[in-house]
Amino acid sequence: MLDRLDQQPPDALLALIKLHDADSRADKIDLGVGVYRTDDGATPVFASIKAAERKLVAEQDSKAYLGPEGDMGFVHALVPFIFGADSPLTSRIEGMQTPGGTGAVRLALALARRAGVTRVFMGTPSWPNHAQIVADLGMELVGFRHAAPDGTADLDALKTALANARDGDAVLLHGCCHNPTGIDFSEAQWDEIASLLAASPVLPIIDLAYQGLGKGMDEDAYGTRTVLAAVPQALIAYSCDKNFGLYRDRVGALYVMAPDAGDLNRILSNGHALARAAWSMPPDHGAAAVRLVLEDAELTANWLAELQDMRSRIGQVRAALAEAGLAGSVDLTPYGRQFGMFAMLPLDKLQIDTLRSDHGIYMAATGRINVAGLTMDNLPKFIGAIAAVSDP
Ligand code: PMP
Repeated sequence: MLDRLDQQPPDALLALIKLHDADSRADKIDLGVGVYRTDDGATPVFASIKAAERKLVAEQDSKAYLGPEGDMGFVHALVPFIFGADSPLTSRIEGMQTPGGTGAVRLALALARRAGVTRVFMGTPSWPNHAQIVADLGMELVGFRHAAPDGTADLDALKTALANARDGDAVLLHGCCHNPTGIDFSEAQWDEIASLLAASPVLPIIDLAYQGLGKGMDEDAYGTRTVLAAVPQALIAYSCDKNFGLYRDRVGALYVMAPDAGDLNRILSNGHALARAAWSMPPDHGAAAVRLVLEDAELTANWLAELQDMRSRIGQVRAALAEAGLAGSVDLTPYGRQFGMFAMLPLDKLQIDTLRSDHGIYMAATGRINVAGLTMDNLPKFIGAIAAVSDP
């Protein structure tokens, strides 16, 4: 029976990691996979997380099962950071822990489907897994252009796409630090999106995977909070894997904002049932470490300072790119106005292949780069190589 299964293509980014690892050039540059890197190219465990993990090892007295909702102390500890310290909306919000942001996106879409959603509107390009999950759930994806040619987020495209939306539609929005473009909606645009969604039957699903890596914790939540203040209901998929550096520990949460607080139990019970049938319950360790950080004022301050360092370094690389101006025919100045770890280079396949073969620079075939893979040391080489492959 299993011979009916066709070979699937390997994950493009994982294949790129293998190629990069096999390259013996000392000055090779990895801009592929989306993990944060320090100026030394490392992806260290946060000191605040290390401290929380020591506490966890010392204090945790059981590893008996939790439920499908996971560690609710973790889920609740994040609430003021995501939705605001004194948000009046929090009485209508409840969540559950998920295996990473991917688990949260999967569960949000599965829950939406259970509620009758059959079409998902989404700006493109997007994180490739969004489309894969939508397809795997048998839902229809309706794409619209995320970024306009002037390098701003294309609000008109979103408006046009949603003009004919109906009951049974959802829209999937990136809360901040858009992956792959780095082009976020401005605050004024979020205000318009909120009004638009308030008057629309569409269910908003917000994917917030990079809070704190753009402008700041509160600033990066502006879109999420503004939309939630305007609409009756929404789903929020959250990841702690970037802003706590916990990638392989798979730490995320799904939050539901219901029209009425009395609806939350019923809606979440569907989330629990879906989780039970998929992964039963989420892995504990990383979420417990996040909870211990957030329960301790000093560790929280340390974590926020570590996050600030990451944000500053990304900003510094972006500023240096923008300052370089032109690299051959590529204008680097827009990268200074964008946010988060990712950016798209306007290069074709041949140019991207040449960067790899002639310069040891590895990036996704789409032209997406991980900005955090650039350092003050390798930037000149990177800019020179972009000029070399793009010079008309
Ligand atoms: N959403 C977006 C937009 C992402 O870029 C990612 C990670 N690449 C995720 C969700 C999922 O993150 P996680 O590693 O926590 O599953």
